[in-house]
Amino acid sequence: MDNSYQELIKGNKLYAEHKLFQDPEYFNKLSAGQSPNYLWIGCSDSRVPANEITNTHSGEIFVHRNIANLVVHTDTNMLSVLEYAVDFLKVKHVIVCGHYGCGGINAAMSNSFHGFVDNWLRNIKDVYHKNEDELISILDQTERSNRLTELNVVEQVRNLAKTSIVQKAWTERDLHLHGWVYGLNNGIIKDLAVIHNGGEHIDSIYRFDLSQKQETANCV
Ligand code: ZN
Repeated sequence: MDNSYQELIKGNKLYAEHKLFQDPEYFNKLSAGQSPNYLWIGCSDSRVPANEITNTHSGEIFVHRNIANLVVHTDTNMLSVLEYAVDFLKVKHVIVCGHYGCGGINAAMSNSFHGFVDNWLRNIKDVYHKNEDELISILDQTERSNRLTELNVVEQVRNLAKTSIVQKAWTERDLHLHGWVYGLNNGIIKDLAVIHNGGEHIDSIYRFDLSQKQETANCV
């Protein structure tokens, strides 16, 4: 039997002791509540831990992760996290962070059969298809994968902007959406500068008329 999991329990004891040594009130303060400024939507990849690569601590980032950092409008898990972060925690920034060398991106670029996960990867194939002219002009497979990684992040930020949750928040306050890509080979985050802080760049069919909804609600 593999007992390596016990290392995690030992590691946790060291962590708790270290924190208490630095600040005896550390856990009392943390357990009082959270008010993070950021929601992080990242890849499940074990090499891209949100807090570690941004040099932040417990309580600073609300996190959602899935394979290839997707924002799928029927994903009740992601939407619940987004709603809680935006409506209740009042985060100021939502960051979609992909990473170069992503297994999900590479799998989606291939024609291989992987199983159920192919249904999830289909979302990336759609991004590929949408940008096929640009992508097939890149002959180097790694460079093509890197570009799809970036295009995927841009698409997921757009998907965030299309949600009623984000659009409702924009009628009430500032909320910034960002698209980043992390480099596994150098530890550096690249900001793709796809910042959205309003719905003016969203195609009209995806824009909710929230003032009208309010009036309708008041009439009922
Ligand atoms: Zn990944």
